[in-house]
This record gives sequence, C-alpha cells and structure tokens, in this order.
Amino acid sequence: MPYMLAPEDLGQMLGDEPSYRVDQLRDWLYHTPVLSAQDMTNLPSDLRDHLATRLWPFSVEMEQVADTGTTRKWLFRTPDGAAIEAVLMGYPRRATLCISSQAGCALACTFCATGQFGFERHLEPGEIVAQVAYAQGFLRQIGMPGVPDHLTNIVFMGMGEPLANYRRVREAIRRMVEVMGISARSLTVSTVGMVPGIRKLADEPWPVSLAISLHAADDELRTSLVPINKRYPIAELEAAAAEYFEKKRRRVSIEWTMMDGVNDTLDQADKLASIARRLRAHVNLIALNPTPLSEARASTKLHIEEFATALRDRRVNVTIRDTRGRDIDAACGQLRVASGFSRGSG
Ligand code: SAH
Repeated sequence: MPYMLAPEDLGQMLGDEPSYRVDQLRDWLYHTPVLSAQDMTNLPSDLRDHLATRLWPFSVEMEQVADTGTTRKWLFRTPDGAAIEAVLMGYPRRATLCISSQAGCALACTFCATGQFGFERHLEPGEIVAQVAYAQGFLRQIGMPGVPDHLTNIVFMGMGEPLANYRRVREAIRRMVEVMGISARSLTVSTVGMVPGIRKLADEPWPVSLAISLHAADDELRTSLVPINKRYPIAELEAAAAEYFEKKRRRVSIEWTMMDGVNDTLDQADKLASIARRLRAHVNLIALNPTPLSEARASTKLHIEEFATALRDRRVNVTIRDTRGRDIDAACGQLRVASGFSRGSG
C-alpha cells in the first residue's frame, strides 16, 4: 500500500525497479493522483497489475451524492475495519475537502455525532493523505459539474480531533505541503481547543490556517458542551490562539454551532464579540445539524441572522455558513460511522 510509506521511502516497495520508476510512481501518487493504478500509463503493466489491488489503504465502502452532484461523501474502510469519512464540496470557484484525522473521537462534545460514538483509533499519515489524493483523483478524472478540477481547500473538519493525533497529522501536513505542493494557507486545522497542540502548531514551518471550535463564550456553558474545556478553559485557549496569530500572522477563525436557546443569546454574542475582537478573528456561524444522541436543536434562521447582526454591530467579521450534505449525514458533526454500528436513516 504505497500511501502507507513515507514518499521518501517509496523505493522500499519497488525492490529492484530502477530509480526513475520510483519517481514515476511518486508522481502518480502525489502530483497527479489517479483513482486506479491501471491509469498510471507510464508504468509497465505487471507493476500496474501489482498495484491495482493495493493502491489505496482502504476500500470505498459507500459513496453518496447530494446537492445536485456538488456534495459527495465517501465512507472508506481500512483493512482492520476502521471507518474513515471524507466529504467533497464543490462550488464555482472552490473545491473543499473535509477530511478525518481519527476514526471516531474521544472528546465527546455533546452535540457532535462523532463524539457521541466514541474513539476507535488514530489515522496514520498515509490514511489522511490518501483521502486528499483520492479526492484529487476524483476531481481530475471524474469531476463535479461547474467545479474546479483540483482541490482549493482542505479542512480537518471530518471525524476526529487533529491536535489529539498531533504527530501523525503533522506528518500528513508535511506530505501535503512539501510533497503534494498544496499551499499551507489552503489547509485548515480545526480544533476543539487542545492548547498544547495549538502551541506546537504555531512553531511548525507551515502557515496553515487555524479554526477554533468555540461554541460558547463563558466557561460554564462551554464546559457543558465541550468537556475538554475543563482542562483548557477559554482564557488559555484564547491566549494560545493569540500566540498562533502573532507567530503566523494568519487570521484565526472561530467556529460557532448555533443551538436554539443555548448559545444564540445576546449575552453570548456580546461575550463572543469581545473575544473575536481581541483575536481579530473571523466568526463562522453554522446551524446545528441534528444528531441522534442529543436533544439540542438548531437556532432558527431569524435568530442566526440576529446573532450575526449583533456581532457585526460589535465590529466583528462574521459569515453564516451554508450546510451541505445534510440529507446524506455529510454535514458538520454528522460524520459518525462506528464499526459494527449501522446507521438509521434521516
Ligand atoms: N475536532 C475538530 C474537528 C472536527 S468537527 C473540531 O472540533 O474543530 C468540525 C466542526 O464541526 C467543529 O467546529 C465542530 O464543532 C462542528 N460540529 C460538530 N458537531 C456539529 C453539529 N452537530 N452541527 C454543526 N456543527 C458541528
């Protein structure tokens, strides 16, 4: 499984093939990915046949399409049974891939489906990079109507907490930036607020974008939604985010999932505005996507708009995010495949 080797170690797999073969294969894997090894046209057919069954470190268990073909969710299955979900969202000038960094998640945010189903295991760097390569191959070879033929944005907003899998996520980012040639700025690491991880990321050489999943602007409310807030309270999280901004000169974004009567009040808007202004952060509002084990409901459209206006009145940049793929459980926080658990519909 070539993606499971570091790109520099690819030669190990090819035994006595000449070194230009290794370069050719590396090109196919990282520069012009293809969905099938049979499409690696400059490789000899016996090598293509050999690679055919082991190109991807997972099988494609399910592929679902929504939003008239512009949202596509893949459920990949690794040989040891772990489920990996990735979602591709196409727009006229953008193609954003949402990738997973862990199978499941241990952080148990109350409103997140992945969190509700617990932690399975960390994903390896190759398993993270292969999600990106697969989507690149899909866009180049099959494509989406009216959408660029390559990824323009990659966000770690699928299953898992990327900064709880720091070493492997770091290596995946290195391969994406230094081998695939993806610009670090087009990569977003989204975190629930693992303060030590944010600090480490600030010292890495790549200016990746950082998103903070805040959701509440005081510790009492935040701890009730995001349990890890007990360990890393808001003041510490804000300090780490400020440090990231200082070191990287990259604007941090704050993610805020809107829950009816929970965090959509004027009082929260007021407190959030203070934090966002101090950080010079951009706020993304997204309506809650309902999940099976939580009674939380999405804020109404009207409340979301009022909340956004309250933030704007307080001089904060804010975007209301569209929700893609709701009907195929592909929307934020809905990715939740646990092995052995079969999902219900709706
Ligand atoms: N663990 C990381 C990345 C995965 S979640 C993080 O927490 O940032 C990606 C985003 O989806 C986060 O902002 C998360 O808070 C949000 N999210 C989780 N569950 C959601 C839901 N049910 N509806 C809307 N957004 C949700």
